[in-house]
Amino acid sequence: MVSLVSRHINTTRLIRTYNASTVLQTLYRHGSCSRTQLAKLTGMSPATITRIIAELMEQGIVLEGKAGKSTGGRRPVYLHIDHTKLYIASLKLLRDDCRAALLDLKGNILSTEKLPWGGQTPQEFLHNTVEILSTIFTQAGINREHILGVGVAVSGICHPKEGRVIRSVNLDWEDVPIAELLGSELQLPIFIENDANACALAEVWLGTARDAVSSMYLKTEEGAGAGIISNKALLNGSRFTTGEIGHVPLIAGGQPCRCGQKGCLEPYVYFGDVQARYAEKTGRKVTRSQFVELIQAQDAAALDLVRESAGALALACTHWGILLDLDVITIGGFWGKLQSEVIDYCQRYYAATARQSGIPCSTTITGSSFNNEDADLLGAAGLVIDRWFAPLSVPFHR
Ligand SMILES: [Zn+2]
Repeated sequence: MVSLVSRHINTTRLIRTYNASTVLQTLYRHGSCSRTQLAKLTGMSPATITRIIAELMEQGIVLEGKAGKSTGGRRPVYLHIDHTKLYIASLKLLRDDCRAALLDLKGNILSTEKLPWGGQTPQEFLHNTVEILSTIFTQAGINREHILGVGVAVSGICHPKEGRVIRSVNLDWEDVPIAELLGSELQLPIFIENDANACALAEVWLGTARDAVSSMYLKTEEGAGAGIISNKALLNGSRFTTGEIGHVPLIAGGQPCRCGQKGCLEPYVYFGDVQARYAEKTGRKVTRSQFVELIQAQDAAALDLVRESAGALALACTHWGILLDLDVITIGGFWGKLQSEVIDYCQRYYAATARQSGIPCSTTITGSSFNNEDADLLGAAGLVIDRWFAPLSVPFHR
């Protein structure tokens, strides 16, 4: 056990060094590179690259692939990360939907398990979570020293540096030191973030915002919130409430919201509210998938509601997109899957507003490439990838 832990420290210490992290980040982004390309892309000397690659190969993290074509001298050997050697554990803690998963470095979910919720203290819940994670690791037969860490996406306000949930209305948690409670039992690095922020990082590393310098993820369906990436870094703010925009009125005299105000984004994108308005109009209560089917079948009442929601989303995208000069805006949840009704409408509205304002518009609005069910688990994984491969001090070399 001792040797396993110390080997874990050796592997993780190696990856954490500035140079190794830069090399891995470059390989992660580019897929495969020769030593010469790595030296050019990172600005390091060929001797440094050779030494780091030797260490990473010794740890089994980097592999040599086939030799490429010669351009006169020796045939270059292409190197790549062994994506099957490094793993990430992720947890999503949302009301009524708590799950644990094991993923590889590509973001493939290898196994997932529901976390029983209800009637426990946070301490009891997290202790139980440790047991479930341990079982997942054992069943997968993986070496713990190759787990980069546990990412936790929480619906609520989090203190990422202290690994603490400040407040989660949905979970009814206040001041819960998640990283300390999980980390002491699991002996792994624990990273926590608000769910929308985590999803924004998942889009950067695994999804629609890979090539963006600045981007925003709009969380919908269960509520409304945004995760914002500016110049490749997540914006947190001094009170960790950046992106908490669900209850800032956007439409004068708009739909009433549970917060007591009118015209917030939340009643337009929270499915429960839209569902209630559909029932009010038609007398029918529909599920999410039935609602999407009704839109596809051109049901008039459903289309009215989608137009209303698309209008609110277009305002949100345009205000915050221009404010932040974003490259990509990703709309999560099923709203983002409604290409012509929502995405195209938002894109047209954004472009027209930018044009009228004399602002060049090259912002892309898109739906998420993830299933909504997996988005938070991938978000938690994106958080771990981001902490390992994109420390703030390391610029990304294109
Ligand atoms: Zn509100």
